[in-house]
Amino acid sequence: MILFDRVVRRYPTSQSALKDVSFEVLEKEFVTLIGHSGAGKSTIFKLILGEEYPTSGSVSFFDQDISEMDDDELIEHRRKIGVIFQDFRLLPSRTIYENIAFAMEAIGFSDKQIKHDVPYVLELVGLKSKIWNFPNELSGGEKQRISMARAIINEPKLLLADEPTGNLDDENAAEILNLIRQINKLGTTVILATHNKNILDSINTRTIKLSDGKVISDK
Ligand code: ADP
Repeated sequence: MILFDRVVRRYPTSQSALKDVSFEVLEKEFVTLIGHSGAGKSTIFKLILGEEYPTSGSVSFFDQDISEMDDDELIEHRRKIGVIFQDFRLLPSRTIYENIAFAMEAIGFSDKQIKHDVPYVLELVGLKSKIWNFPNELSGGEKQRISMARAIINEPKLLLADEPTGNLDDENAAEILNLIRQINKLGTTVILATHNKNILDSINTRTIKLSDGKVISDK
């Protein structure tokens, strides 16, 4: 599904963020990406989303080289990917309903479909009662569950989770992890970047370890 083939990503102002990185992720896999801050985890996500391109080597999604996609193909490509971040990235002046509806509007769903799907996905993450609240009225764990709802509402093929538990206490982190696992069980491929020790101890998945822009283990 995703193939990194000898990827180098160099920034003009720093040394290489990725140095000859190769790995493949299969459909429905759950892969954990670990490594210290600066190891290159976020760069991998940006390359998968086509927000940045390799300096050399290639990144492919279902056998298509992402750097060869035209603008329309790139939009189509990003629609297949849900993303959650450590800092939630919810729109502060919009209700929870609007935050999620926005993701569906962007893809052109009808109002009728949006009105049907938003309560449904909020139910899935256990927060239907917060539909008319604003993000600042929610706890960190609740905000992350909302961002999960937003990430999955368009039924992505792939979920990228970039340190999703970084701002959460252990209990909320475990809840988010459970949600991510459920989504994976339903067939979505997951790549989870984390350095949360409790999470790593509690899951038994393929783990790719990055250090200084290189894959140092994959098992
Ligand atoms: P991680 O997500 O593992 O913390 P990143 O992928 O964000 O690591 O960063 C990897 C390396 O690339 C770091 O040394 C970082 O400073 C550098 N880097 C990331 N983005 C940029 C950028 N836009 N310009 C210059 N250097 C960058």
